[in-house]
Amino acid sequence: MRSATCARSIDSSLMRIGLLSDIHANLEALKAVLEHLDAQGSDALVCLGDFVGYGPDPNEVIDRVRTLAAAVIRGNHDRAASTITNLDDFNPAARSAVEWTRRQLRAENLQYLAQLPAGPLQVDGLSLVHGAFQDEDEYVFVPEQALDSLVLAPGPLTFFGHTHMQGGFTLREASAQAIVLRASWVDVSVTRLPIEAGTRYMLNPGSIGQPRDGDARAAFVIVDANQALVEFWRVPYDIGSVQERLRDARLPETLGTRLSTGH
Ligand code: ZN
Repeated sequence: MRSATCARSIDSSLMRIGLLSDIHANLEALKAVLEHLDAQGSDALVCLGDFVGYGPDPNEVIDRVRTLAAAVIRGNHDRAASTITNLDDFNPAARSAVEWTRRQLRAENLQYLAQLPAGPLQVDGLSLVHGAFQDEDEYVFVPEQALDSLVLAPGPLTFFGHTHMQGGFTLREASAQAIVLRASWVDVSVTRLPIEAGTRYMLNPGSIGQPRDGDARAAFVIVDANQALVEFWRVPYDIGSVQERLRDARLPETLGTRLSTGH
């Protein structure tokens, strides 16, 4: 465990750990996930970055997560909102959301985002990264892009975000494969993935605040160390009320539309 202020000591060997990523200032989705985590039982929370950007409630999201999370790394939107960052890599809607977020953030929350560590962060056997192991800003969509992280991580379990796609990749006998969680037409709320000895995993909890994998429900995972499995969860939330808040804040229309389509 690194001694960063955002990583407290947790013992993952005894626990169910909730992993949250890409919340993107969507308080409604976060509240639904936290309620669900309470009901399912989780002993610690970990966050893989992108607290803010896109959504209408950056301060409320930070207020909640900073008191609850045992370990946190930053995402590219957290860095963009809290430091002098060149926004050339952001599309117009993302850029105007970053600029809006900068104006909204309370000083203490701006300061909180600015001091978040970049991944990789090692937390009791788990590697946490926002994008890829070797580069926090790299997108990992396909097995070939996951290979470096799968090989470089010190342990068998790495968690990443950034793509907003729930799922991930395995490395077994020198072959990297995508994990197929479920058929896209099957509307289940949880898929359980057994963790097998001799296999390395790079797993994405999906996005809480702006899913892009075709399922509009908020996404997260619970790692169950006792049972050696990872649970991939989807929970519904009140998307309409977030779209209303986006309109009130005069944030770009497209940000609301993609919440309902999940793309
Ligand atoms: Zn993101």
